[in-house]
Amino acid sequence: MIRKEDEVQNYIERIRDRRSREGIPDYDACQRILEHAAEMNSSAIFGMGYYYFAEYYLRAGDREKTMHCLEECAKCFLAAKMYESLARSYNLMGVVSELQDDPVIALDHYYTGLQYAEKFGHTYVHAMIDANIGNILMYMKRYEEAIQRYEQSLDYYGRSEDCPPRAGNMVMCLICCGMCYRRLQQPEKALSLWEEIAAARQSRPDAKYPELELGIFEAECHAVRGNRTAFFRGMEEILQKLRDMENVEPVACCLKDIAELLLDFQAYELLEEFFRIIDERGACARITREMELYPCRSACLLSQNKTREYLEYTRRYFTAYEKDRQNNRRVTARVLELRDRLSAMEREREKMQDDNRYLENIALYDSMTNLANRTSLNEHACIKFEEAQREKKLLGVELLDIDCFKKYNDTYGHLAGDACIEAVAGVLQSVGSARVFCGRYGGDEFMIVYSDMTLEEIGGVVERIEQQVRNLAFPHSASECSDIVTVSQGVFVRKPDEPNREWDFNFQADSALYLAKRAGRNCYRIKTEFSE
Ligand code: GH3
Ligand code: MG
Repeated sequence: MIRKEDEVQNYIERIRDRRSREGIPDYDACQRILEHAAEMNSSAIFGMGYYYFAEYYLRAGDREKTMHCLEECAKCFLAAKMYESLARSYNLMGVVSELQDDPVIALDHYYTGLQYAEKFGHTYVHAMIDANIGNILMYMKRYEEAIQRYEQSLDYYGRSEDCPPRAGNMVMCLICCGMCYRRLQQPEKALSLWEEIAAARQSRPDAKYPELELGIFEAECHAVRGNRTAFFRGMEEILQKLRDMENVEPVACCLKDIAELLLDFQAYELLEEFFRIIDERGACARITREMELYPCRSACLLSQNKTREYLEYTRRYFTAYEKDRQNNRRVTARVLELRDRLSAMEREREKMQDDNRYLENIALYDSMTNLANRTSLNEHACIKFEEAQREKKLLGVELLDIDCFKKYNDTYGHLAGDACIEAVAGVLQSVGSARVFCGRYGGDEFMIVYSDMTLEEIGGVVERIEQQVRNLAFPHSASECSDIVTVSQGVFVRKPDEPNREWDFNFQADSALYLAKRAGRNCYRIKTEFSE
């Protein structure tokens, strides 16, 4: 008997297969997934069923049903705590709202999706949503802000795992950035992005890339370079691609770019042909589309002395313009609000990173001296021990202790004692390096781990420490061994053998320190073998 989960998996495979072949999920399989979800009473599976249905309706052109399914799947994903899918659902809601000419609602959905992606660390969905927000900003001619979003998107894609659509999405971001730069009159930057795009495509030649957008951007680059022949050839190819489509709605966001490019080059014949093609393919059913294309189309009509058509077209435009202006004002207000919310979110993230750094600091460093604490000393000693054992190298462990420190406290007070510990720590900091790892072991005791060094080199550092502590010249009238603050040091050095553990080194260093103390303090002892 096939398990229910496996059956659902089979339906998902069927949906994906149909989607990749025909661009639309399998309706019947979507239906079956929902039936299974009901039998299994699983919100996760309900969510998936509705999500695939949303994709189905979106491809079938029924936006209302798409939205309804997305709202349902968002509820299910939330209940099932599937946050990545939840963020994806909101992203798709944003896309649908944009198609419904409602960028305000779209921004709201993108923002909600972004919050889930951010909170649960789903970098890929984060990248997708950033790019979609970039598209709205570009549409609103806020090119600098759009570039920022695209760059952030690229950053997040870069941090995500590789998957088939990633390369195409990244190239799309680069294209959009390039288009923004061209509109900001920075053609060199646009050209340099074209090189990046070429490099990206070369490194992943098998990925699927946005053909039409690539064609447009390449033509733009030819235009910037003043290469007319290549430009016209490119534009002819683009028009042919449009002719081959039944419906140009899926590439609607490119239409304005094409018209503007043709107008820039006063290619009126091609421009007229372009409008003929897109009118036949229902491109101007949406007000905003018509608005966008107005400057190009009216220039085209005027250039051909079609005054009657021009006047009629302009009258229609002004009616639409009033409607659109009100809409635009709402969008602008919402974009500003969104920008504030996004920067608050980014500040929050920075604060969280600071907090994490702070906690990490507390966990690994001694707060008084800023040296490594006992935890990180042990960790470091352990790593270096294994390294030395593996590579048959010398390892040294030292314990260093301030002489008669109890009496120092009694004579000069606890605060002066603290300052003395900090000064000795300062000496250790100054000799510390990748091979000389110093930390505070506790109280007036410090530990040093020597790795990758010869016995002579270790001895040199030990003597330098001894001398530099004396150079501090902290008076210590109650000391039994000197009239200034001094230290005793015990060091153990050898190549770790199979039966040794790192604590053998600590134990041996401690016994070397004891020898130094017993010899009258203010001196060091280096042991090199277990036997005395
Ligand atoms: P010896 O030469 O044998 O090491 O003598 P000693 O007095 O240094 O030995 P002991 O280990 O008995 O004393 C260490 C003293 O260090 C005891 C404690 O009061 C003091 N101490 C430990 N931590 C701190 C600290 O953070 N600040 C200050 N001011 N004193 C500390
Ligand atoms: Mg001491």
